[in-house]
Amino acid sequence: MTTYPMPVLAAEELATAAARLEDAEVRLLCGSVVDPAGVIRAKHVPARRVGAFHAGGMGASPSWNVFCVDNAIAFTPRFGVVGDLRLRTDLAALRLLGDGVAWAPAEMFDQDGTPAPVCTRGLLRRTVAGLAERGLGAQVGCELEMVLTPRSGASWNAYGLGALLDIEPFVLDLLAAADRAGLPVEQIHAEYGDSQLEFSIAPTDPLTAADHVVLARLLACRVARRHDVAVSFSPLPFAGGSGNGAHQHLSLTQDGRPLLSGGRGPHGLTDDGAAVVGGIVAGLPQLTAVFAGSVLSPHRLQPGHWSGAFACWGWENREAAVRLCTATPGNPHGASVELKCIDPSANPYLATAAFLGLALEGLAGGAPLPPEVTVAPAELTPEEAARTAAVRLPDLASALGLLETSDLARLLLGEELLEALVAVRRHELDTYGGEDVEVVAEKLRYAWSA
Ligand code: GLU
Ligand code: MG
Repeated sequence: MTTYPMPVLAAEELATAAARLEDAEVRLLCGSVVDPAGVIRAKHVPARRVGAFHAGGMGASPSWNVFCVDNAIAFTPRFGVVGDLRLRTDLAALRLLGDGVAWAPAEMFDQDGTPAPVCTRGLLRRTVAGLAERGLGAQVGCELEMVLTPRSGASWNAYGLGALLDIEPFVLDLLAAADRAGLPVEQIHAEYGDSQLEFSIAPTDPLTAADHVVLARLLACRVARRHDVAVSFSPLPFAGGSGNGAHQHLSLTQDGRPLLSGGRGPHGLTDDGAAVVGGIVAGLPQLTAVFAGSVLSPHRLQPGHWSGAFACWGWENREAAVRLCTATPGNPHGASVELKCIDPSANPYLATAAFLGLALEGLAGGAPLPPEVTVAPAELTPEEAARTAAVRLPDLASALGLLETSDLARLLLGEELLEALVAVRRHELDTYGGEDVEVVAEKLRYAWSA
């Protein structure tokens, strides 16, 4: 069970952690946070300082929360140059990466030890603890799409066997790195886009799932350096090409019983499960800027790209933002809802917290389940679109306007995070919204890589 806030380990536990690192010949410890713009930022210490990095933490200016994808700083009244946040690593989540390096996710605290409300991992921890208090258990599985550059020149067939053979040495090294670090990779395939690879990570508790997204990006980029390729986690690595998604699958239980299967509703949904799906679909337009809020995201969120460009739901509907996967022998993890509109520019802690928050609000308020969409939503007649309440997700300017004025977003994320998120995304819109997409795709191609 996730406790809130992150506990401070006792001296003996810190000594054990230090001994573990020494035994494994670790020299360098990396502690990372993900900022509201979705960029992974880190501090490093010599491994013997593992206790200090956990207990007192390393310093960071409040402006870390308003760093932008291009390294501009979108200062706000709350986030300026004065003040100090402490980055404290969660040693329960520490992983050994090999070659003398270890990694752990960090959370932000004030100097007096109070959790900083702007911390996205802290928000997710709090959200999960809130679910547990209501007897709800959640499991989240994540998919990572990425594009390898420079392109090999060989042709790339979607789901092609040859495409994967071309990059076999990279894939084998990546799997070895994942095994070493305890990252449970479930599947790897050549995705639809040119030089696009996807791997999926086994479902686990939400905090670990979001950590796994960060770890997976770190490992992919670390291994790539040894193979002279770079990895793009941009929502749109190349203008005109396929986008990268960062879909998440959520399954929920109430007092141990599954909510998304075994009921009398459509496709076996329970009444509560139907309210969960209804709540997620209803809240999507207000939270689009959380899930897909970069200046490149709207170029990916297009009909026909399997990116979930419409707020609606459907069984195994890959064009709906909410795809329901039912519990069948072909789906051993059980029923889940996949949120397809998430892209890798989203902070994974924030996206997971918002996904869970929408589910919980839907459940608490008994949200109605809209009629299912059983075709590609772009093909719905106006009457069918009205009947199913399917709407296209908003463009970035509208998404930011909706987010800023949304009481739901304020409730789920808090005032501080909302202020930081809107500031960094507005900067992207104001700076790059009017430029050619080719130029922006190139400029930001590696902004979300490690
Ligand atoms: N690349 C698509 C996206 O942007 C997803 C393709 C798929 O896995 O269905 O989300
Ligand atoms: Mg995919």
